[in-house]
Amino acid sequence: MIGRFAPSTTGEPHPGTLLSALLVWLDARSRGGRALLRLEDLDRTRVRDAWSAGMIDALGWLGLDWDATVIQTERAAAHDAALDALAAAGRLYPCACSRADRSGGRRAPDGGWAYDNTCRGRAMPAGGWRASTEPLRAQLPDDAIALVDDGGMDLSQTPARDMGDPIVRRRDGVIAYHLAVVVDDDAAGVTDVVRGRDIAPSTATQILLQRMLGYATPRYRHHLLLVEGSGDKLAKLHGSLPLSCVRARYDAPALCGAS
Ligand SMILES: [Zn+2]
Repeated sequence: MIGRFAPSTTGEPHPGTLLSALLVWLDARSRGGRALLRLEDLDRTRVRDAWSAGMIDALGWLGLDWDATVIQTERAAAHDAALDALAAAGRLYPCACSRADRSGGRRAPDGGWAYDNTCRGRAMPAGGWRASTEPLRAQLPDDAIALVDDGGMDLSQTPARDMGDPIVRRRDGVIAYHLAVVVDDDAAGVTDVVRGRDIAPSTATQILLQRMLGYATPRYRHHLLLVEGSGDKLAKLHGSLPLSCVRARYDAPALCGAS
């Protein structure tokens, strides 16, 4: 059994980040499995090296250890190979449609607007995907995914219809989240994914990407999120309750329920 904690390093870790890390670590260690740490630092406009260091420091403070650490920006060759495979299968197409183009349309399971696959069939530039200056989407098969995760959440969907084809490469050339996650989990041999429920509506899409690339599908469990008093997700972007406040008030064993 191999689990992983995969935080993005786009801000100071907050209590929700640490809850997720603790649950991943407990799941792996309680079953004699391996626990991996993957720092998701692909978004160079938003990440800072200090936040990667801060994440490692925070996890160490909490007492969590990891069998290996993967830095996502060091995985570029594997990400490119996945895009090559999708291109060779004729599954990539450019699409510059904006979110605003879809507003007022159909709601997707994640609360956003579904994409109606309107640019399917558009040709790739002559130089292939590397030459594209537009975002690229992957044309999903029309398959329905039947999935109840280990926590009992029914995540069944027909992603091509319910969500629409996902962006797999952004306009700025960065591989998009769904594809990077799928490629990196497979390469690390991850068998069990524990992560927050905010990602749950995208799981079926990720399963289709796994199938398109010939990967196995791990088991999934989506945990409850810490939320603000208003019910909103804890937002690291506006810095609500930074970890420094938590560290000033609690010691790590107490926070983990170990003392
Ligand atoms: Zn489009």
